[in-house]
Amino acid sequence: MNINIFTNNADETRKVGYDIASKMTGGEVICLYGDLGAGKTVFSGGFINYFLPEKRVVSPTFIIVRHYSVKKDAVTNIYHIDLYRMNSPLEIEGIGLSEFMNKPENIVIIEWAERLFDKKPKVRTDLSFEIIDENKRRILHNEYNK
Ligand code: ADP
Ligand code: MG
Repeated sequence: MNINIFTNNADETRKVGYDIASKMTGGEVICLYGDLGAGKTVFSGGFINYFLPEKRVVSPTFIIVRHYSVKKDAVTNIYHIDLYRMNSPLEIEGIGLSEFMNKPENIVIIEWAERLFDKKPKVRTDLSFEIIDENKRRILHNEYNK
């Protein structure tokens, strides 16, 4: 699977996040790639708002991991992670990602997933964000099942 999605404003990107979230059943890892300002946090906001409609989602850049308690079917935790400030594999190891990942009650959504290098889980959703112009973005969606 390899799908290109084009959005023309932030709300459309938010909606893409919301729609993808609506298909989650728990245990998923969502990896977000792309430059600063490409729309990863906007997407994450839409994604998390599927579970917590009123929540204002802010970037976890400075705290690295933000936890949301949710209750939707089997899902009870969302971990929103931003690796932007992580400079070495050792630092990333220190976050303890493997403790959150692949638990059926958790969903993990990771900005700057480029920084995971070979630590990316085999089963994951990849979304690569590309800035086309001021308001237009291309989002490449890939599912890896094994
Ligand atoms: P990132 O987390 O990738 O660094 P953000 O989501 O924080 O980026 O910021 C994206 C910025 O681009 C926001 O200011 C948003 O309003 C703006 N923007 C303009 N057009 C779009 C679009 N089509 N999709 C997402 N964001 C957009
Ligand atoms: Mg961001």
